[in-house]
Amino acid sequence: MIVDGLAVLEQVAAVVRVARLNPAGLTRAELGRVLHLGRNGVEDRLQRAAELGLVCQAGTRKSTGGRAPAVWVFNAGAGTVATASVSIFHTTLALTDLAGEVRCQRRLDCGVIAPPEEVCGKIVAALRALVAEHPGLPGVRGVGLTLPLPVDPQESCPIDPVALTLGETSPWSKFPLRNRLAAELRLPVWIDDEVDAMALAASVRPGAPADLFYLRVSPGLGLGIVSGGQVHRGNTGLAGELGHLQFGDSGLPCRCGRQSCLETVASGKAIADTASRAGNLARSPALRAAAAGRGEVTAEQVFAAAAGGDRVCVKILSDVAVVLSVVLAVLVAVYSPSEIVIGGEVARSGPVFASILEVALRRKLLPTTAARLTVRLGGVDQSDVIVGASRLACDALLTAPQLSRWIK
Ligand SMILES: [Zn+2]
Repeated sequence: MIVDGLAVLEQVAAVVRVARLNPAGLTRAELGRVLHLGRNGVEDRLQRAAELGLVCQAGTRKSTGGRAPAVWVFNAGAGTVATASVSIFHTTLALTDLAGEVRCQRRLDCGVIAPPEEVCGKIVAALRALVAEHPGLPGVRGVGLTLPLPVDPQESCPIDPVALTLGETSPWSKFPLRNRLAAELRLPVWIDDEVDAMALAASVRPGAPADLFYLRVSPGLGLGIVSGGQVHRGNTGLAGELGHLQFGDSGLPCRCGRQSCLETVASGKAIADTASRAGNLARSPALRAAAAGRGEVTAEQVFAAAAGGDRVCVKILSDVAVVLSVVLAVLVAVYSPSEIVIGGEVARSGPVFASILEVALRRKLLPTTAARLTVRLGGVDQSDVIVGASRLACDALLTAPQLSRWIK
């Protein structure tokens, strides 16, 4: 084992960072140009990164005279990252490679409606089982965990804005989930708001713009903001918390104790509540079938029925999209992102919701702003949040202070 100083690890981390940014690979000469290093400098750092298993040779480039130069790529198979995406009712666990490629995943029937101690215990047990069932995977190096709650960027603890508004004590607020999991699993853990992780996933795909919004419509409503390639969390970790903005005069009571919050008219819960009204159940065979025996439907069922062309469900989603277009138009005018990704459970409705929102939004924007804006649908089935949680952990694991963990 060679013990490197932080300065050396910074240089190795730079090689790894450049390799990750160039999936087609680089030759020694190309690496040298990017890192402003001479031949020997590149060779030393490349060799160290290869000893750690983080870069490997992948063929050669066509020779321009002399020996064909070797091409070096980031080795995404050098380790495994565990992710735990906690939502309101469920938790999705996954094991991914270092590029966020999912190797296996499992769903647990527990989410933030359960006490944090219980969720923490179930995650630990299920992750251990998942790892034991896949002995062929490389060792787990760290954990990326997401919550449907903002996370205090200073303390890495969840914040429960609804409980704070109600003046109540939430069992999740300030719960030391990161430290608890790290101690139990004996692995480093990084934690984030799920919509911020989704925004991170959108920002690291090939060709992604540096400025984008990720709008998540699931049971709640949230906005992830990427500015200059970085997730913007604000000084409180509450940037993009739109659900409890006082909006319009619906007078509808909100779970935060106030009235007319945006969440009461534009969220997965609002969609489920609207679809469960007697008039809508009467007019939609799909909703009646979904509500059978319970008298109410879930937002997921509305999204699925809209994807199947159910007119009542399409109208419900249209009304929500029009409301959200007002809020988004203001945010787009201020922030000027290149792209808005619409994801969360609403992605199950197919392109219906995104296209209605896009049309309503474009009408409100300056033509120049609208012309430079793309609106697209995000991934379904938790794929964006898993990629984001994995990326969160990988980005941290591949920084110089963490690289010592890779020394064999
Ligand atoms: Zn509210």
